Amino acid sequence: MTFPPLRDELRGLEPYGAPQLSLQQAPVQLNVNENPYAPSEAVVADVATAVAEAATRLNRYPDREHVELRERLADYLTADGGARVTAEQVWAANGSNEVMLQLLQAFGGPGRTALSFAPTYSMYPEYARDTSTRWVTGRRDDEFSVDVDAACALVAAERPSVVLLPSPNNPTGTALPQATVTALCEAVGDDGVVVVDEAYGEFRRAGTPSALALLGEHRNLVVTRTMSKAFAAAGLRLGYLAADPAICDAVRVVRLPYHLSAVTQAVALAALRHAPELLGRVDALRAERDDTVAWLRDQGLEVADSDANFAFFGRLADRHAVWQGLLDRGVLVRETGPDGWLRVSIGTPQEMTSFKEALLVVLKEEQ
Ligand code: PMP
Repeated sequence: MTFPPLRDELRGLEPYGAPQLSLQQAPVQLNVNENPYAPSEAVVADVATAVAEAATRLNRYPDREHVELRERLADYLTADGGARVTAEQVWAANGSNEVMLQLLQAFGGPGRTALSFAPTYSMYPEYARDTSTRWVTGRRDDEFSVDVDAACALVAAERPSVVLLPSPNNPTGTALPQATVTALCEAVGDDGVVVVDEAYGEFRRAGTPSALALLGEHRNLVVTRTMSKAFAAAGLRLGYLAADPAICDAVRVVRLPYHLSAVTQAVALAALRHAPELLGRVDALRAERDDTVAWLRDQGLEVADSDANFAFFGRLADRHAVWQGLLDRGVLVRETGPDGWLRVSIGTPQEMTSFKEALLVVLKEEQ
């Protein structure tokens, strides 16, 4: 036996994660879909007060059921999705990554199957691997959308316990029509759950509805959200889901006791009190996204339609050379998804100008 005595399927694997470079190495960081706007002094002051208050009870464990936070998240979702969501329908954890791992722990496992449609978020197969869940992928079409008939046929053939359906999708930015979500919920039935991962939901274009509106119709539907993107609080690590209360209760069986620290709960509540301000840049980021997509198309590049805070562009003969060329000019983007494509997160107008200037030079050199 070699040391350490790792599970066979984990041997030789690298931990997941984009390259994390310092601001000296890459002053323009457009690689992990963060919100580029830091909190204002007023938000920082309120967060600090909330943490100080939580610290006076730090000898005690936090509220295991994070009731107040679930109530406030339910209020927020009700306002954003247009359909009433109650606290019993909400569950939170340390990032939506942890929410989805908990879903796989509860509904996946040995002898069970999780399904998604590639290209998609590269963490999904890792949740499956870590919970010993069989992993199956269907293909997205040329527009990176999901063909409903093919998807339902795959569900009928594979009988998944979990379908992971990001909308908007990462890395392509593609949102799914409600009809696709409905068809998959019906195809899966009570044998599984359909998880619509709306990590980028708040960036959706006008006219693109949230799957939250469908919660009343499908008891096997789970919608996940995060405070990491639109809420400009990636450092907080707070993700959450909305679903039938029976699904929340199932997840409670697998969660670690006190998984959400008192500090996390206090900061999340403070951030929610400032929701209008923290979300205030979403419109500007959407406009910047649309401008970036149009500009990239003007350069003759292919760009996927995006409902998220990033743009996915190709087709590059040597994408690694373009990625490296941008980095050499201080701009860090993400080399992910199908070969020939790169993903750029939407930053401030100044950051996008730096990206465009660098890309023009690099593309010229590549010719
Ligand atoms: N889902 C998707 C599609 C994502 O792109 C990400 C983050 N990159 C996550 C979930 C996880 O986000 P977090 O854990 O920060 O909530």
